[in-house]
Amino acid sequence: MINFNSLRNLHFLFKKKRDKPCLDSEVKYREIVEHLLVGVYIIQNDSFRYGNKKFCEIFGYSYEDIVEKISPASLAFGSDKNIVKENIRKLISKESKSMEYEFRGVKKDGSIVWIKALGNLISYKGKPAISGTLIDFTDRKLVEEALYIGEERFRVTLEATEIGNWDWDVKNDIWYASPIYYTMLGYEPVAEPSDRRVWLARIHPEDREYVRAKIKDILAYKEDRYIYEARILHADGSYRWYQVIGHIIEKDNQGRIKRMVGIRKDITDFKQAEEELKISKSRLRALIDTLPDLVWVKDPHGVYLQCNHRFEQLYGAAEKEIVGKTDYDFVGKELADFFRQKDSEAVVAGKPSINEEEVTFSDGHKEILETIKTPIYESDGRFVGVLGIGRDITQRKKAQQELIRNEALISAAVDNLPIVFYLIDKDGIFNLSIGAGLKGLGLLPNQVVGQSVFDLYKDFPKTIEAINKAFSGESAIFELEVNEVHYLSIVNPMSMSDNRAGIVGVGLDITDRKKAEFELLKAKEKAEESDQLKSAFLANMSHEIRTPMNGILGFAGLLKEPELSGEQQKKYIRIIEESGERMLNIINDIINISKIESGIIDIHLSETNINNQLQFVYDSLKLDAYHKKLKLSFKCELDEYESIIITDGEKFYGILSNLVKNAIKYTDMGTIEFGYAVKGEKMEFYVKDTGIGIPKEKVEVIFERFIQADIADKMARQGAGLGLAISKAYVEMLGGKIWVDSEESKGSTFFFTLPCNIDIDKKVKITAAVHPDTEEKNVIPENLGLKVLIAEDDKASEMLISIEMEKFSREILKVNTGKHAVETCLNNPDIDLVLMDIQIPGMNGYDATREIREFNKEVIIIAQTAFALEGDKEKAIDAGCNNYISKPINPNILLSLIQSYFAK
Ligand code: ADP
Repeated sequence: MINFNSLRNLHFLFKKKRDKPCLDSEVKYREIVEHLLVGVYIIQNDSFRYGNKKFCEIFGYSYEDIVEKISPASLAFGSDKNIVKENIRKLISKESKSMEYEFRGVKKDGSIVWIKALGNLISYKGKPAISGTLIDFTDRKLVEEALYIGEERFRVTLEATEIGNWDWDVKNDIWYASPIYYTMLGYEPVAEPSDRRVWLARIHPEDREYVRAKIKDILAYKEDRYIYEARILHADGSYRWYQVIGHIIEKDNQGRIKRMVGIRKDITDFKQAEEELKISKSRLRALIDTLPDLVWVKDPHGVYLQCNHRFEQLYGAAEKEIVGKTDYDFVGKELADFFRQKDSEAVVAGKPSINEEEVTFSDGHKEILETIKTPIYESDGRFVGVLGIGRDITQRKKAQQELIRNEALISAAVDNLPIVFYLIDKDGIFNLSIGAGLKGLGLLPNQVVGQSVFDLYKDFPKTIEAINKAFSGESAIFELEVNEVHYLSIVNPMSMSDNRAGIVGVGLDITDRKKAEFELLKAKEKAEESDQLKSAFLANMSHEIRTPMNGILGFAGLLKEPELSGEQQKKYIRIIEESGERMLNIINDIINISKIESGIIDIHLSETNINNQLQFVYDSLKLDAYHKKLKLSFKCELDEYESIIITDGEKFYGILSNLVKNAIKYTDMGTIEFGYAVKGEKMEFYVKDTGIGIPKEKVEVIFERFIQADIADKMARQGAGLGLAISKAYVEMLGGKIWVDSEESKGSTFFFTLPCNIDIDKKVKITAAVHPDTEEKNVIPENLGLKVLIAEDDKASEMLISIEMEKFSREILKVNTGKHAVETCLNNPDIDLVLMDIQIPGMNGYDATREIREFNKEVIIIAQTAFALEGDKEKAIDAGCNNYISKPINPNILLSLIQSYFAK
């Protein structure tokens, strides 16, 4: 290695000697110089004046080729010519005192040599000249270059990785940095060492002290290396983050730092990322902390790693107190075990698991939490812990409970309403069916849930049609009849909050309404029918009443003829009697049917001898049969003493006589037989004829009022169509049934049953029935010589009764008001009998009787009632009458009454 210092000394020596030249010594020196291993030269006027052997050798020229021939710059390569020229100029012009520089020389053969040149200003031959030495350090340069190539590679690597490097000669405080060290911050690179203080000044004021301290520490031998991160000013005025690493690489014998090298790396992006991470972390943290949910993370052993503010409230401890601990440090073992168990379940499931927990906070309040526990795994699949999020669902729970309660209330309400409430989903499946109305359908609540409406009601096209209509978005109404239960149902399309769609329906049990409607319809039909019947009835009645009236009035008129024979008179009178009776029958029927319809008819039970009743019917109708040449007979199955039942004798008589009368009426020839048979607890009566019979379709309806079978010759048969209706009503009142077997043109058998005995308690009082007594009792008593008062406002009636009473009376008093009756009684205390008309003007018969009874309890008072109404009889007895007689007065009955009170 060439020692530049020794070169310099030699040159100095050479220069000194030249200051005082002498020939001898000059020769000597020349000899020495000639053999020196460095090139020596003298330049004057831009031309070589001298060059020693080595000089010529360095450039490959001969002495002659160089001296006085070429300029110094011509020996330099390329741009280095300027370096040579500049150095010479500076020295000649005395801008510099000496020169020392390197340049690339060009040898004669064109190859490059690295030259180090030194020179000083001298005076040569009286003129300024430059004398100096040259040294060829090409070999060293090559080594250096090889080294440089290594360094270059290092540099290129550093540049490629954007890393600047520096080298600090600490001892001499020479600081050198690589070009990229500059450029990476936008500064112009410099080859020369620069002042590191400049760079220190470029450090961000906030970081500067910290960096200084780092450097100070290393200089104080505290560290062998340092690393710091700091912001450094960019040429554009911004600050960038850099990481600087410095290493001590050389120390002197005393251990003092001689040299340090280091790198500087731009970490702005990293810092920014770090900063962003920090920001996003803190944002996340802030978010987690402001969350109303409890958030926590536990490691696989249940040790808390992190938690948020809300969670801190649970345990009443700060996060730093919770982290590192487990649930067992805060709650009882049982609850901690439960938490641990739920954590494990989430881990086993390998996915988030949800559960509800009721927890007590540190301040004592309780909350129901819905917790989601999620196992956390690293990217390599390693299980690292459990993340828990707990949400307060107390309010939601309460609302749910409230909802459940409300639902229960609603369903309890619906369950007690006679309705069916149902929901059908979009596929036609029942989701709900509740309501008390289900009972009628024979269904339990929700029994049809899960079943398809289209399957269940496939046989009910109206239902399916309505359901389809509701599915198409319209309301629909339909009626459904199941097990005789009628439902009116309304269905509506429905959309639910959770986007489900379907149908809501309500069915109302309208069976009662339907029945009422039906009844109404029936009633309407009946009303219409009865309207027709009424017309028919009126026409019939008109005929039925006019005919006998015609007979009565007509023959009564004929009776006035003076020359009538006794025979004729009798005949006319008989016609008048028959007509009167016929009319009376009709009137009785009308009164009876109206009593039945107004429900004012009572039953009077008594021991009734059936055989006697049959006999009586026979006796009273045998003549009628005889007149029509019919054979009338009756049969009694029981002996007379056995044939006693408890029933209403009058009504029994009415029923039986009506049937026998009809049999006679509707039979033109043949026989009529009636009788009875005992059938268990019942007696079955029959009336059989060989008459015209009844069409099949009429056998039911003839029992209804005003209905008459289509008989060919209606007018010939008399009747108002009331007899069977009255009979039916009586039979049913007495606990029996009535029906008919009949064949047209062959004859009919009417049957009716009666219970052998009726529970007397259940029926009304038994009153002694006043029967029209048998004929043998109808004996005119001896003149009784009674004093009689007749209270009657109707002249005809008064006359009739007066005539009847004449035979029993010694005196007859007559009054036509109630008031007079009372007065007469008061004035005549010897009156034996009062025949009191109930409907007399002023004070009526009842009141008059009551007043008479005030002062006379003995007198026999018999009420005369116009229509023989049941109530009238009772009222008369209550008012104080001894008995009653119905108008028109039957002389036989009157006689038997007088006998019963006055016979001696
Ligand atoms: P009427 O006054 O018309 O006889 P009823 O109520 O007694 O009224 O009878 C109703 C109808 O029943 C009669 O009009 C007649 O058509 C029919 N009927 C009743 N009894 C007989 C019978 N024995 N034979 C044939 N038809 C009868």
